[in-house]
Amino acid sequence: MKKENASPKEMNPAGGSASNVEKKENSRLLRRLMLVGAAAALVFISIGGTIFYLSKTGKLQKVKSHLSSSSSSSRELGERSSSGKKGEFYISSKDEDSKSGGKIAVKKQPVSEKNTDDDEPFINPYALGEDFDVDDPDFTDPEDEIDPDDYDLKDFDPDDFDPEDFNDPDTEMPEKMPKDKGGKKGTGYSLPDGQGNYDLTEYTIILDPGHGGRDTGCVFPFNAPEYNECDFTLRIAKRIKSQLEARGATVHMTRTDNSWVSLYNRLAQTHLICLDIAEKEGKLPFSKARANELRTLLQTSIDINEDTVASGGMGIMVGSGVGDDLNDLFEMEYKLDKVLFLSVHLNSSESRTLHGNSIFYVTDESVIESERRQRRENSEFQRSDFPIRDEYYGRHGEDNELLACCLYDNIVGNIPEFETNATPVNADNYAVLREHGLTGCLIETAFLSDDNDRAMLQRDDTIDSIAVSVSDSVKMYFIQKGI
Ligand SMILES: [Zn+2]
Repeated sequence: MKKENASPKEMNPAGGSASNVEKKENSRLLRRLMLVGAAAALVFISIGGTIFYLSKTGKLQKVKSHLSSSSSSSRELGERSSSGKKGEFYISSKDEDSKSGGKIAVKKQPVSEKNTDDDEPFINPYALGEDFDVDDPDFTDPEDEIDPDDYDLKDFDPDDFDPEDFNDPDTEMPEKMPKDKGGKKGTGYSLPDGQGNYDLTEYTIILDPGHGGRDTGCVFPFNAPEYNECDFTLRIAKRIKSQLEARGATVHMTRTDNSWVSLYNRLAQTHLICLDIAEKEGKLPFSKARANELRTLLQTSIDINEDTVASGGMGIMVGSGVGDDLNDLFEMEYKLDKVLFLSVHLNSSESRTLHGNSIFYVTDESVIESERRQRRENSEFQRSDFPIRDEYYGRHGEDNELLACCLYDNIVGNIPEFETNATPVNADNYAVLREHGLTGCLIETAFLSDDNDRAMLQRDDTIDSIAVSVSDSVKMYFIQKGI
C-alpha cells in the first residue's frame, strides 16, 4: 500500500538522505522551535525582571505574604520558594503561617464590601493600595510580629460603614444617639475621652451668673447665712468664661460683679448681643432701622433694671405669650444657631435630702402649662396692664433638651459626686430661658443645702471641673447638631 499520506519521518525512518520536500519540512520545524524558544526566553526574562524589581522595592514580601496564605496558587509559589533561594524572593507558606498565625492579616480599615466566598479569604483592598505602607508591619523583620488579635473583622457590618465617615476628623465621635430623657450619667451625651483638643472659635456663649446684689439667691445655713448662691454663681461663671475663651469661644456675661441685675435687664442684654451678631453676620430678618428701634426698647429695660410689671422694666417681654417686638427677636435668634445661653445657679432643698446637678430648659409645652397655671394663681397675671396673648408655639424645645442632656452627662461624668437624686433634666418655665429664642439651659450646679455638695463647691478643682464640663457640653451639643 502506498503510503502517500505518511509523514516524511515514516517514509525515512532511518534518517537517511531526504528529499527536497523533507528538507523544507525540517527547516520549517526548526524555525518554529527557535521561535518557541525565543518566546520562552522572553517570558523568563520578564518574570525574572519583575521579581527583581519587586524584591528591590520591598513590595514582593508584602504581595507574597497575602498571596501565600490565601489561595492554592499562592501556596504553590510558597512551595517553589522553599526549593529555591528561600526568603530572598519568596517566603514560604510555612513562614507566613508562623507570622500571622495562619490567618490573613487584615488591618482594621474601612472596606467597601464584604467577602462572601469562604474559600477566598477577604483581603482588605486598602492593604495593597497606594496608601499601603510596606514598612508597617515589616514582614522581613522577625521582631515585627503581627498580632492576629489586632485584626478582627468578625464584628464588621458593611451596612454600618459609610466611607464619608473616614474623611471626617470627628470620625471617632459617636453618631447621633437615641435620647435618654433621664439625662443619667453615661447616656451618651458626654464628650468621649481623647476628644479634649477641640476648638470653639465659631461659637458665642452668653453666660448668666444667677442673682447678685440685693438678691443673694439661696443661702446656707438658712437662718444665719454664711454662703450665698450669688457668690458661687459668679465664681463658677467666670471660670466657665475662661475655659470657653481658652477654646476660642466668644463669651458675654450678664453680670461681672456682685451687683443687682434684673432678669429682664439680663434678657435685654441678650437680645442686644444677638442684634449685634445678626447685623454683623447679615442675618437681620428686618431693616436696620427696625433693629435700632428694638435696641431703644431693650435699652429701656436695662435702664429701669426692675422685674415688676409696674416698673415697666419687663419692657417688650411683659405678658404671657409673645408680642410682635419679641416675636421679631425670636425669629432672628432662632437663626443664630451658633449662639447659646447658659444661666448658672445653685439649688437648695429645705428638707436637705436632695443633692447633685440638675439642668432646666424650656419647651412650648412647659411654658404654656406654667402660664395657664399662673393666669389662675399669679396676681401679676391678673393686673389690667398685664397682656394676655395667644399661647406661643415655636420654641426649639428639642435643642434645649439636647443641650440639657449634654450638660448633665458631662458634669456628672466628670464629677460623679454630682449625680443627683432629684430629676437630672427638667422642662420648666424660667424667664431667662423663656424670653429669647436662643438655645439655652439653666444649670443648677449642685445643692448648697447639701453638706457634701457644698464642700465640693468650695474646692477649686471642682470649679475647674465644672468649667471644663460645660465647655465639653457646648462642644458635644454642636457635634450632635452637626454645626
Ligand atoms: Zn438661683
